[in-house]
Amino acid sequence: MPGELLFLSSAVGKVDGDYVEWYLQPMESCRCEAILLGVADYGEADRLVTLFTLEHGKLRGIAKGAKRSLRRFGGILEPFARLTVQISIRSGLSRVVGADAATIFPRIREDLLKIGYAGYACEAADLLLPEALPNPRLFRLLAAYLEHLDQAPPSSSDRRFFEVNLLNILGYRPALGQCASCGVDLSALTTRHAGAAGGLLCGRCGRGRVVSEWTVSLLEVSLRTGRFGKVNFSPAELAEAGSILDPAIASHVSRSIKSLAFLREMGE
Ligand SMILES: [Zn+2]
Repeated sequence: MPGELLFLSSAVGKVDGDYVEWYLQPMESCRCEAILLGVADYGEADRLVTLFTLEHGKLRGIAKGAKRSLRRFGGILEPFARLTVQISIRSGLSRVVGADAATIFPRIREDLLKIGYAGYACEAADLLLPEALPNPRLFRLLAAYLEHLDQAPPSSSDRRFFEVNLLNILGYRPALGQCASCGVDLSALTTRHAGAAGGLLCGRCGRGRVVSEWTVSLLEVSLRTGRFGKVNFSPAELAEAGSILDPAIASHVSRSIKSLAFLREMGE
């Protein structure tokens, strides 16, 4: 039977004749696969990190001594690195005890535009993901995008491919087959317009940019194929896809995505 309480955060009691201690606020320490969505210096020695873990979803944590300890962190707590982390999970701020890099995607870091795309993908995922909710499909999508960016030339088509799949996995798939306002079947109509909050509108409900049937089918193919690099949009189709996807993403985030400004400066 448990004995007297000795500490506020833990308890000690006798079980089968032995003294044992357990935590009143359970803490889970685990080794997780993770992608580093964001990182910031904290004080002289520490770093604050936002991790997208495969096992536990998005977690915010502190890596004590990370700016000094090469043994525990090896200088790898860098944006969009793919890591294995040892983490003590707590409500609020978790404690990152150590980290090993699966890859820091070195070829992304050699190319400013690739850095822009990778940073944008991580920031968008951070803003759209709820905390501590595992989402293995989204983890695989983001990991696949970073791997592709590391290997292939930077491409606006891949960005749009990522975005439409990101929205779909999170349950925010834009309406492509029916008018988002009145629900009419768009496949029988000759014109469709991009809506203010993403998705498509029929000619009676919408006044925005006209979107071609071909752009819609490229977005639908993007949702069916799991492979980056398989779908290529022309410049006109990219602009049309952007008129659907940009407002769709903006309508689900609480603030503007800072890395979008950098992409725009790069002409994207
Ligand atoms: Zn309509």
